Amino acid sequence: MTTLTGKVALVTGGARGIGAGIALRLAQDGADVALTYRQSADQAATVVRRVEALGRRALAIQADSADPAAVQEAVDRTAAELGRLDILVNNAGVFLVGAVDQLGTDELERTLAVNVRAPYVAARAAARHLGDGGRIISIGSNVGERAVFPGLSLYSMSKTALAGLTRGLARELGPRGITVNLVNPGPTDTDTNPADGPNAAAIAGFTALGRYARPADIAATVAHLATPDAAYVTGAVVNVDGGFTS
Ligand code: NDP
Repeated sequence: MTTLTGKVALVTGGARGIGAGIALRLAQDGADVALTYRQSADQAATVVRRVEALGRRALAIQADSADPAAVQEAVDRTAAELGRLDILVNNAGVFLVGAVDQLGTDELERTLAVNVRAPYVAARAAARHLGDGGRIISIGSNVGERAVFPGLSLYSMSKTALAGLTRGLARELGPRGITVNLVNPGPTDTDTNPADGPNAAAIAGFTALGRYARPADIAATVAHLATPDAAYVTGAVVNVDGGFTS
């Protein structure tokens, strides 16, 4: 028996990148896992197969995080089809960067819809299903804490909002034994931010460790926060950033 045996998790944006790493780690630790995707159907199916190969149940749900009704339905479907919901991981995110006078209203609305409104809506829907021991874990960003380059104001704003959501929900749901935390990854090797990308060396140079994370590095902390061992951690912002913000 592993630490998350009998638990059901939902990971938004779980088809690839950090989300896929989290989905697989939670499954390795014993959880059944639902994941949402917007367009990566093939990659979602691959994650489902890998979760099932671990002997866990898996469910892939196409749900655009920009659509609040789809987000709510994904949460409700997870609880209905997998029988319960114990762990919500708000991972899906968009990274739209540019000078403040060049990004338009479309970029503003998309960023707020996916990075801020969706985690709120998912948490609101999840709160109706979570019981004692429930977990809400959101994925923020190192640049929510330290905006090192020009062009990050919109993205940083959206990720900083998750700290407020986390603290507020921690207070609200604490009496029910539900913890709510924010994990801020540092530069992590994914399609969005490849470790061999044109700016990667400069970005890695901002960390104390001088290198990128792997999705598994972020997933390990999320998995810990999901366990009973982390029952007294709530309202916390945990930087898993290789010292980027140190
Ligand atoms: P990827 O680009 O590798 O993956 C993004 C994921 O988000 C995909 O699964 C994608 O699904 C999903 N997604 C994006 N938009 C939507 C949407 N509208 N509806 C549903 N799903 C959506 O990104 P990362 O793995 O790098 O990022 C994951 C999280 O980590 C994000 O919140 C990001 O902001 C954060 N982060 C990443 C860092 C990094 O260096 N990589 C650093 C700090 C934070 P699909 O493919 O189906 O569209």
